[in-house]
Amino acid sequence: MKTKTKAIHSLYQSKDAYGALAMPVYHTDAYEFENAEIMSDAFCSRVPLPDYSRVTNPTVIYFEKKIRELTGARHVHALTSGMAAICNSLLAICGSGSNIVTSNHLFGNTWLLFSKTFARYGIEARFCDLCDIEAVKASIDGKTACVYAEIISNPLQEVVDLKALSDVAHERGCLLLADTTMIPFTRFNAGQLGVDLELVSTTKYVSGGASTIGGVAIDYSCGNDYEERMQEMMLNFGAYMTPHVAYMQTLGLENLEARYSLESANTMELAERLRTLPAIREVNYTGLKDNPFHELACRQFNDTYGAMICIELESREKCFDFLNRLKLVKRATNLFDNRTLAIHPASTIFGNFSKQQLHDLDVSENCIRLSVGLEDMDDVFEDIRQALTD
Ligand SMILES: *Cc1c(COP(=O)(O)O)cnc(C)c1O
Repeated sequence: MKTKTKAIHSLYQSKDAYGALAMPVYHTDAYEFENAEIMSDAFCSRVPLPDYSRVTNPTVIYFEKKIRELTGARHVHALTSGMAAICNSLLAICGSGSNIVTSNHLFGNTWLLFSKTFARYGIEARFCDLCDIEAVKASIDGKTACVYAEIISNPLQEVVDLKALSDVAHERGCLLLADTTMIPFTRFNAGQLGVDLELVSTTKYVSGGASTIGGVAIDYSCGNDYEERMQEMMLNFGAYMTPHVAYMQTLGLENLEARYSLESANTMELAERLRTLPAIREVNYTGLKDNPFHELACRQFNDTYGAMICIELESREKCFDFLNRLKLVKRATNLFDNRTLAIHPASTIFGNFSKQQLHDLDVSENCIRLSVGLEDMDDVFEDIRQALTD
């Protein structure tokens, strides 16, 4: 089956008693067993039967199975959020004394997780320029557990070369982890580019219009030790996705392709039209042909560029004025909702960061991040145009 068909027609593990077309939501904590032997087999993973919903639930298993079929991955773990997927996976891979080679251009909470939280537990983050392969090589040593990259950074929109990074990481015996939230995993295969573990905030494209928070860890080639550790994380940290969320996100997966096609086409159209507005000093979108990362993004993601645009205005004050004048576009965080959203990252997502941290992370005071939705771009463009007029 092709991707669009698979997204809809994955089979359940066992036949539904009533032939339900949508995966039922198994709102149950525990499961009854026919006898003590089967019960023991289930608890010791000798048979694939759910035993307790902190670690296994049929609705969540179905969501994980769909993603496994869509990506060709070996294992998929669904967790309560993108951050839970990132944190649990890294704790499965790293130990006290190991280090992570990564970039300063990271999602705000990932950056804080690395530089603040993990530091307290003896896991070191080494920040370097992931677009400079020599710098990456120089940062790796015998204690490096993995190279960690975001495929398109946010809000800078820097694109990393996954193949080049995986070659360096594998040469030195470490794993490549990539946060691919910015482009749906149905559009490019991270595993084929050498990514060992793909991390996705399914809160974004997958959830189906910002319905629920969730995350997945998609394992292509981490090995059995990782999988064992990940099962330990699920048991002991308890961040497994809940059945209701898995149900909502399964619906989101079914129409992901339809929504993404429209959102990415809308984004391209809007990016081009925004360039005609004199109040905007710069339109940053990797889909634009003169963007420095355009060619790499085109090759790596099969000519698709996501639905986030960053624009530079004249000042922080102009950014606030612009946000306050918007009528249709929503002042909100989040990405890839059905609605178009606008945010000033420096004063919100990075609002509690010091001046030095903002400088290290290259977060501009003049940047507005737009997440483009499914509306008619005539209306969205008109709203942005009027909000930029003094
Ligand atoms: C939103 C986001 C996350 C965190 O995901 P949550 O589901 O909010 O925990 C991580 N990485 C990127 C790139 C994101 O956009």
